[in-house]
Amino acid sequence: MALIVHKYGGTSMGSTERIRSVAKRVAKWARAGHQMVVVPSAMSGETNRLLGMAKELSPAATTPELQRELDMIASTGEQVSVGLLAIALQAEGMQAVSYAGWQVPIRTDSAHTKARIQHIDDARVRADLAAGKVVVITGFQGVDEHGHITTLGRGGSDTSAVAVAAAMKAHECLIYTDVDGVYTTDPRIVADARRLTTISFEEMLEMASLGSKVLQIRSVEFAGKYRVPLRVLSSFTPWDIDIDAEAKSGTLITFEEDEKMEQAVVSGIAFNRDEAKISLMGVTDKPGIAHLILGPVAEANIDVDVIIQNVSHDGRTDFSFTVHRNDFQRTMELLRVKVLPVTGATDLIGDAKICKVSIVGIGMRSHVGVASRMFSVLSDEGINIQMITTSEIKTSVVIDEKYMELAVRALHKAFDLDQPPG
Ligand code: ADP
Ligand code: ASP
Ligand code: MG
Repeated sequence: MALIVHKYGGTSMGSTERIRSVAKRVAKWARAGHQMVVVPSAMSGETNRLLGMAKELSPAATTPELQRELDMIASTGEQVSVGLLAIALQAEGMQAVSYAGWQVPIRTDSAHTKARIQHIDDARVRADLAAGKVVVITGFQGVDEHGHITTLGRGGSDTSAVAVAAAMKAHECLIYTDVDGVYTTDPRIVADARRLTTISFEEMLEMASLGSKVLQIRSVEFAGKYRVPLRVLSSFTPWDIDIDAEAKSGTLITFEEDEKMEQAVVSGIAFNRDEAKISLMGVTDKPGIAHLILGPVAEANIDVDVIIQNVSHDGRTDFSFTVHRNDFQRTMELLRVKVLPVTGATDLIGDAKICKVSIVGIGMRSHVGVASRMFSVLSDEGINIQMITTSEIKTSVVIDEKYMELAVRALHKAFDLDQPPG
């Protein structure tokens, strides 16, 4: 008998029919002798609907007070889901109880709309499990030290599930979703993308951080930190398939570097349309300039991603960086008011129509020329590269958004990702 955490995403919880199927699947696992903790997301579209209403009333919810209310609103989606799932489980003859984040409690910091989990008290959940109950806990939300409800950022239910699994030292955390695993790239963009049976933790971390929304980045970080065995699999298989086959399906995130993986130089392609580029032109090139520009941005709690500074001519240089599109207007305003006057910059230019395309693979460590191959593939397609950033196991380029799909497809083919690894 093992303690297992199941997470079901929005599409998997998308209707009462789907919820009934989730309940039947969970009941199957419980009847096989496992202690079950289930972490569902809000029903698909619900979080958008809730936040959309808030936006109608206040288009730019930028103050901490407004963000607190956004969390109050958005968290209700998951609260409905856990109640419905507990009812569905009881209808299947199981004992089940649902909890909101604050009832567990799942303690977070106070960064509304992107809070981080700090601690999970597992006493209540353990007592229920010991009493033979299935425990259903809201994804995406927690509570801060002042008792305010917080949310963990979009896609945050993955993180809730992995954090619960870590806190409870679960045997495995199964992330059930609308695809049957992690693919070489988003199968919605490239039809011949291939499912990976395993992916190394490091690659998964890069893929998630570079935009593959199949797992929220923080969930992968948690899995790495606490060594939580993590598997991504489909909730759309018949609920009554053989449990042993189901337990081996999908994609396993592995912590051992596996030789088979090493052979594939590039394991996957990620892309991200969530960023915007900001350039300060003609900045005076002197020590401390990067700090002068990015200091106020960091103080405003805005994350910066790709940064480039050009070589200077006549003591002046151009400085560009990317931020999340949600932070774009705020960053532009901040630069206009606080930074432009003190850097001597001649112009401030913003571009939200960009995307970042990245190739990822631990095999890149031991192979030279992978990045230049990427650049040549893009050049053959006539795609201009605006920014480049590399690490040991990834190369990312920022390009015009309209070439995103073309770039992803061309790279997927050029790196033989449609072919089984040799
Ligand atoms: P859930 O609601 O279950 O959390 P998400 O929509 O957050 O589901 O994540 C699943 C989606 O992630 C898939 O439908 C797929 O379009 C997308 N995706 C992006 N990159 C990948 C990838 N490399 N492998 C699999 N799915 C991916
Ligand atoms: N419901 C939240 C969202 O839509 C969290 C999640 O689905 O993981 O972002
Ligand atoms: Mg998700």
